[in-house]
Amino acid sequence: MTDRYKSVLLFGAPGVGKGTQGKILGRIPGFFHLACGDVFRSLDMTSELGKQFLAYSSRGELVPDELTIEMWRQNMHAQTVLSLFKPKQDLLVLDGIPRNVAQAKALHKSLDVLKVIHLSCGDEEAMMQRMRRRALKENRMDDADDKVIRHRFEVYHQETHPVLDFYHSSIVVNIDAVGSPAQVFMRVLEVVVPVQDAHFNQPAAAAN
Ligand code: ADP
Repeated sequence: MTDRYKSVLLFGAPGVGKGTQGKILGRIPGFFHLACGDVFRSLDMTSELGKQFLAYSSRGELVPDELTIEMWRQNMHAQTVLSLFKPKQDLLVLDGIPRNVAQAKALHKSLDVLKVIHLSCGDEEAMMQRMRRRALKENRMDDADDKVIRHRFEVYHQETHPVLDFYHSSIVVNIDAVGSPAQVFMRVLEVVVPVQDAHFNQPAAAAN
């Protein structure tokens, strides 16, 4: 298992801000961010896989593991072939996958998980509020209906949260997700910069 991608996982309940943090991190050289939900949303919705995604996500359910893992593998392969992701230089920042223990097991042969960043916020009502705003802004069906949002939280508690126990407690870091994106990002950087330092040689930034 020498060629596993060195990775950190952004982990947390729906609406906690994983995507926001991941997108900022992904802009920094040496980090590659991949959000599983974004990959699903970029599918052609008239294709078989696109239709399956819509059917599950509109109910607040997870897409079946086999489809998810296969899609993830193909996407990673494409990103690597196109040199958008360079496994020898980039720390992979995964967001939204693995989302249950079966996925964590299936990814074990492909991922060398160095840290699991658990973004946590005790206030589920505040997260639901964010999701309602996001539904309007991003036209997301799965966030438009309160019943679906509630179900997404149930799925998170039942299926996703147990993933934290799959990883050794020494690599799981809890981060307070309450605060502005910049405040939370400072906490995230405190975790990921030492990981990048320890595992990759980063060239100094160009002076321009
Ligand atoms: P959020 O960021 O709000 O937690 P995502 O954008 O990550 O939501 O995911 C949206 C939907 O895409 C999920 O509700 C689920 O239906 C599907 N999905 C995303 N990632 C996975 C995954 N790893 N396994 C199964 N389904 C997934």
